[in-house]
Amino acid sequence: MIGLVVPGLCFLAGVGAGACAMLWALSRPAAGRRRIEAALEDSERKLRNLFELSPLGIVLNDFEGHYIEFNRAFETICGYSAQELRAMPRGAMTPGEYLPEEQRLIQALLGNGRYGPYEKHYRRKDGSLVPVRLNGLLITGSDGRRYTWSIVEDISADRRAQEALQRESAKNLALLRNASDGIHILNPAGEVIEASDSFCEMLGYARDELIGMNVRDWDAQLTSTELAEVLREDFATPRRRVIETRHRRRDGSVFEVEISSVSMRLNGEQVLFNSARDITERKKAEERIRHLAFFDQLTRLPNRLLLHERLRRALSASARSGRFGALLLVNLDNFRSTNNTLGHAAGDALLRQAAVRLAAEVGESGTLARVDGDEFMILLEELAPQPGAAAAEAKAFGLKLMRALSGSYALPEREIHVGCSVGATILCGERQTIQDPIRQVNIALHQAKTSGRNALRFFDPLMQESANARAALENELRKALDAGRLLLHYQVQVDHAKRAIGVEALLRWNHPQRGLVLPGEFIGLAEETRLIVPIGQWVIDAACAQLAAWSREARTRGLSIAVNVSPLQFQQPDFAVQVLGSIRRHQIDARRLELELTETLLQGDLERTVDTMRTLKSQGVRFSLDDFGTGYSSLQYLRQLPLDQLKIDRSFVQDIAEPNGKAIVDTIVAVSRHLNLEVIAEGVETPQQLDTLRECGCTRYQGYLFGRPVPVERLLEAREALALE
Ligand code: C2E
Ligand code: MG
Ligand code: MG
Repeated sequence: MIGLVVPGLCFLAGVGAGACAMLWALSRPAAGRRRIEAALEDSERKLRNLFELSPLGIVLNDFEGHYIEFNRAFETICGYSAQELRAMPRGAMTPGEYLPEEQRLIQALLGNGRYGPYEKHYRRKDGSLVPVRLNGLLITGSDGRRYTWSIVEDISADRRAQEALQRESAKNLALLRNASDGIHILNPAGEVIEASDSFCEMLGYARDELIGMNVRDWDAQLTSTELAEVLREDFATPRRRVIETRHRRRDGSVFEVEISSVSMRLNGEQVLFNSARDITERKKAEERIRHLAFFDQLTRLPNRLLLHERLRRALSASARSGRFGALLLVNLDNFRSTNNTLGHAAGDALLRQAAVRLAAEVGESGTLARVDGDEFMILLEELAPQPGAAAAEAKAFGLKLMRALSGSYALPEREIHVGCSVGATILCGERQTIQDPIRQVNIALHQAKTSGRNALRFFDPLMQESANARAALENELRKALDAGRLLLHYQVQVDHAKRAIGVEALLRWNHPQRGLVLPGEFIGLAEETRLIVPIGQWVIDAACAQLAAWSREARTRGLSIAVNVSPLQFQQPDFAVQVLGSIRRHQIDARRLELELTETLLQGDLERTVDTMRTLKSQGVRFSLDDFGTGYSSLQYLRQLPLDQLKIDRSFVQDIAEPNGKAIVDTIVAVSRHLNLEVIAEGVETPQQLDTLRECGCTRYQGYLFGRPVPVERLLEAREALALE
């Protein structure tokens, strides 16, 4: 079984969740899923009609021969129910004699990506054999697995007519006239000696007119010489042959047709028994499936699969010609937050506009594809034959794309500005697989992003090294949590009288070789890999356990712990449930737990953020806004958040000796008063800073002046006089 994978088809015909997830995995990363789902709705509706109402059987197989998806027509053809088909072992419907042929077919399929027409029989559920004709396409998913779509036609009517003719010979030529297929019998010169009603209808001639006409008179594709050659071969071949061509009707209109021919003896003459089928509908189905498989439905650009095909070809072409090519990966900066803040419709509009701008730049000079939510890939071919010159061309091209993409976008509700980052690499065919350049542009893009976004970076082997190191770090970090190598240090927070009011919990990683690793080195990685979610949960739980221990002693009972929460962690749907779970498990006073959020959270879904905060706050949990002043928060947003405290960022405390620096701190304190919030300064290192903060009206402090982050035992030692009111 062979065919074509269609992204989005999993929404059809009650597909099992497993198959659906798998198809999605093939074609789309989970991130953009909801948005893409919406964009596909329209195409899906059309495809659903095509799929469900089609008289043709349409079926999706994996390469192990399992039936993953199929329509009603396919069920009817083989007589099995959907459930039975899904559970069917490989090849169960195929009589043994076809298996060697199918092995050969699979090899051919792997070679040229399609197969057919291929004729065989299925053994139906009731034991009868049904003759079928298959055509199909092969797709390799981005997971590297292969899938096939097949279009299956029941050709029993055609076969019955042929068999009747063979049995009854010339006597019953008239029988043919009622056959449902476009049957016509040709003599070796290619002239019609008999034709069925449906063939006459197909071409729009009366039977009297058609008899005696030559196949040349209506074939709209092949030249006379080609037709003569086809006829000669058809007569000489003992087996049935199938070709696709185009026929011209009497009124001049042209349609696609498939001719299945078998040469036989009739009344002592050698004739050609031809059965014609109008394949317009099948072609449309194939085209549609191909489009869905190879094009992104949102932007109409080629998708990842098509790009991979072209890349494969470009690499072999480059190996032959010795000319270099380039691959560029463009990523819109901060797309995720736009999508979250303005909604998916705006995100879609932004992607479409970006696609249009890119397409205008790329034009005919390369292949532009949308390969991921907010990622576009551009394949350039036939650049210079020297790597340096080719790189220069690619760089100039990349910069042109960046200019085209930057600037304002008019979205339904407002106008926004977008930047982009670009990773680039040079292609040379020799010894490269398509995975090499793809990995390289991803590394280069990552570099561009970490260098502060809105930048273009070329892949170089040093990057590869640092990417390897990152991969190793990620691997180790995964293990660190289970191996108990993460720990919390605590830094004291004091009030105006320098009395400890609480601590901030700061994460440390006790690395077997590198010693104590600070969060700056791994929080970013943990966020990218989503490891921050389980790690963050652990931090909250460990802080709650610490609070529980402190609650048993009078001198520590009043201390609170502030915990840093990453936006990704906060946005987990079960975040509040998790936190409340920890509070309950450790039986602590929720008012002693303070969660430090950052302003980036405000770019997400504000309503949900507020909801989650309210749920937690109703149980007593407090909220502090960390690094305040470094983000984008407008007062209007701030006002909506049920916060308890603002935390003045260390950078402002550092600059407080300068006139402007003090003015900023003054303003932050005024804002906090205005919003009725407490305010704490972090990073207080010197008595002068403390004095100025006091002058500004800030009465809570944290910083090296009062204590560095230390393990819990040292915290208590250092604060012997931990007098708590
Ligand atoms: P933050 O939340 O702003 O934490 C304050 C950082 O400033 C800490 O760095 C702390 O050691 C440092 N610091 C405190 N007082 C002073 C001072 O007087 N002078 C100077 N120069 N630095 C001071 P650390 O521990 O390296 O943490 C860095 C950041 O990592 C934190 O910034 C926080 O954003 C993040 N982080 C730490 N623990 C966690 C965690 O459990 N979860 C998450 N999501 N992020 C964490
Ligand atoms: Mg903090
Ligand atoms: Mg901070």
